Amino acid sequence: MKRIGVLTSGGDAPGMNAAVRAVVRMAVYHHLEVIGVMRGYAGLIEGDFRPLSVSAVGDIIHRGGTVLRTARSEEFMVPQGRRAAMEQMHRADMEGLVVIGGDGSFRGAVHLSHLGMPVVGVPGTIDNDIAGTDFTIGFDTAVNTVVDAINKIRDTATSHERVFLVEVMGRRSGAIALMAGIAGGAESILIPEVPVNLDEVVTKIERGRARGKLHSIILVAEGVGSALEIGKGIERRTGLDTRVTILGHIQRGGTPTAFDRMLASRMGSRAVELLMEGATGQMVGIQAQDIVAVDMEEALKEQKRIDYDIYRLAGILAI
Ligand code: ADP
Repeated sequence: MKRIGVLTSGGDAPGMNAAVRAVVRMAVYHHLEVIGVMRGYAGLIEGDFRPLSVSAVGDIIHRGGTVLRTARSEEFMVPQGRRAAMEQMHRADMEGLVVIGGDGSFRGAVHLSHLGMPVVGVPGTIDNDIAGTDFTIGFDTAVNTVVDAINKIRDTATSHERVFLVEVMGRRSGAIALMAGIAGGAESILIPEVPVNLDEVVTKIERGRARGKLHSIILVAEGVGSALEIGKGIERRTGLDTRVTILGHIQRGGTPTAFDRMLASRMGSRAVELLMEGATGQMVGIQAQDIVAVDMEEALKEQKRIDYDIYRLAGILAI
């Protein structure tokens, strides 16, 4: 193997740059050339390539987003588009590809692997919704961003004796809400995996107030429904003032945490080694602190579950 490509695709996540850097540095260490593919599969189809040297990935380990840019490509969803991508890769003498992205990007990667291109995936998404890995790159940073926001909201919630609802990302997964809810000391955490019980939420608020608690913070994953509506429901039942903060895209940005940089460095490096070992259709994961390789198609078939023990713990600690 002499030359490989690397791309970032789908939703961006903090730590993607650290992963790109690790891919390039590990490849160069093994005397491989690396081609950076711009804008994910869109750039792969167009042949929007640029060589990545050791210095090209300098000064990016701490940057959020992705220097390779990212995109969503409709063209890649159909066989013709993927064949065009294969042609571009052959023309550039690419013998393997590292795909950094989420589950959608991996579905695309599996297709390329079936067409004969060795592909290894690196899970990069703030949602932590990919089976086969305990963590995805960007999740820890997003959780820390949410905790930071909760800390600030707590100050004003206490001063005004208000109920605050904080809506966080997670259409299908309550991972961010759960982790940030525990770390931020939220009273209730509403996630799509568990049916909402507003009575329970209200009971917790009232119990807290009876104990002299001045504020309540309720974390709502966006997949549960509108935090504004839930807030109105709470207002109707308790007569208390509620306020809603929708964190939105700030959760995607920012400098990656040390955890995400470390994870990205280990995963990106391993992806290169796997390609050199002849792997294809594999995804790098972390399981119980160990970097592992799992079959990408198998991982995609599985629905990543939240840890219900942790969910129960959240309920106990917010008693
Ligand atoms: P993410 O990787 O963050 O989940 P998307 O779901 O938007 O993001 O996927 C990124 C890109 O991957 C899509 O724009 C498309 O080009 C490609 N892709 C997604 N699903 C498939 C699929 N089933 N077959 C082929 N390509 C796909």
